[in-house]
Amino acid sequence: TSVFEDVKAAPADVIFALTTICDADTFDKKINLGVGAYRTEEGKPYVLPVVKKADHILVDDKNLDHEYLPILGQKAFRKESAKLILGASSKALAEDRVGAIQCISGTGALYAGAHFLSKHYPIKGAACYISTPTYANHRPLLEGVGLPVLEYPYWNPATKGLDLEGMLNAMQSAANGSIFLLHACAHNPTGVDPTPDQWRQIADVMEAKSHFTFFDCAYQGFASGNLDKDAYAVRYFVERGLELFVAQSYSKNFGLYSERAGNLTVVAKTPEIKDRIESQIAKAQRAVISNPPAYGSRIVSTVLTDKKLYSEWEQNLSTMANRIIHMRKVLFDELTRLETPGKWSHIVDQIGMFSFTGLTTPQVKVLKEKYHIYLLDNGRISVAGLNSKNVMYFAQAVDDVVR
Ligand code: PMP
Repeated sequence: TSVFEDVKAAPADVIFALTTICDADTFDKKINLGVGAYRTEEGKPYVLPVVKKADHILVDDKNLDHEYLPILGQKAFRKESAKLILGASSKALAEDRVGAIQCISGTGALYAGAHFLSKHYPIKGAACYISTPTYANHRPLLEGVGLPVLEYPYWNPATKGLDLEGMLNAMQSAANGSIFLLHACAHNPTGVDPTPDQWRQIADVMEAKSHFTFFDCAYQGFASGNLDKDAYAVRYFVERGLELFVAQSYSKNFGLYSERAGNLTVVAKTPEIKDRIESQIAKAQRAVISNPPAYGSRIVSTVLTDKKLYSEWEQNLSTMANRIIHMRKVLFDELTRLETPGKWSHIVDQIGMFSFTGLTTPQVKVLKEKYHIYLLDNGRISVAGLNSKNVMYFAQAVDDVVR
């Protein structure tokens, strides 16, 4: 008998399982709206033209080798990542109190930050609050490092918008010094972000209650198409003097999904504290991954350190963001034309890659079984999966299931 006789099978990951089922489906009009990856008008993965250029530069660079990176990662990448999210003129950067740790993409940055908090957060047993709903990996990741997880309201099903009152009330009634995981922009899965005035109200409570902010920033540039606009919330919190962490991912905005390029930016009160935090995260990182992978970070730093490539990247980003915005409009117009029951303006009001459609789990079941359209049971679609060839088919299917 095996020593592992009693090991039970774990459930498959819902999103990856959906892709497996869709890949195996031979129906010619099938649509995968589950996966959070950008697709072109032809429904294909997109290698950003600027990434191809950076690729050529790296291939031709005779000085590059495959030596280990330092434990904290590539220096230029770390520096540029912090600058990208905080802004070149950030006071915190000028005061040398910003740390940066290259991680295994956004997930690794969330892990590094959460792991540090689980070991060094001064309030033992402090809970980390996540939004209802949130990215499916948040809870398991936080629980995995032993942080107690609680939830704050976010989505109001009645308005199909932000439940600001519920969110603020939860922050008010949370124990002082709780940890709040906030989506910096393009909230996943709802596509609903607070306005600047709402961010002010959120920051007021976070400050008054001495809560700690952990931003998850997986979509900078993808929400509005503008990198600075999408960094608004983080920069505003830093301006107010709050200490915080930001987990940054280059999966979406560089299309570097498999290269696992990410960064944890740490904004501390003083340079000394920043150094100590970095040293602790370096120690932990050494024991888990030893040092991060180089390729994705080289692509990113090549682009971020070159003015011309940087502006090309901005153009590539707006190509992606604008195509998604356009698909939202086409879908909304078609549902309006079909006089599909219900109010659908949230499709165009929401931002980023996802739309929380409001479709119910039984309706999603029919979409899958009758129409071969794959989306999450909570009604979330990746708008990037739509294009001018399949959007009418999708709209008609939605029209059918809600009648
Ligand atoms: N946070 C959020 C909100 C996400 O949507 C994602 C990607 N789906 C991630 C983090 C992590 O992505 P990655 O590890 O590929 O950077």
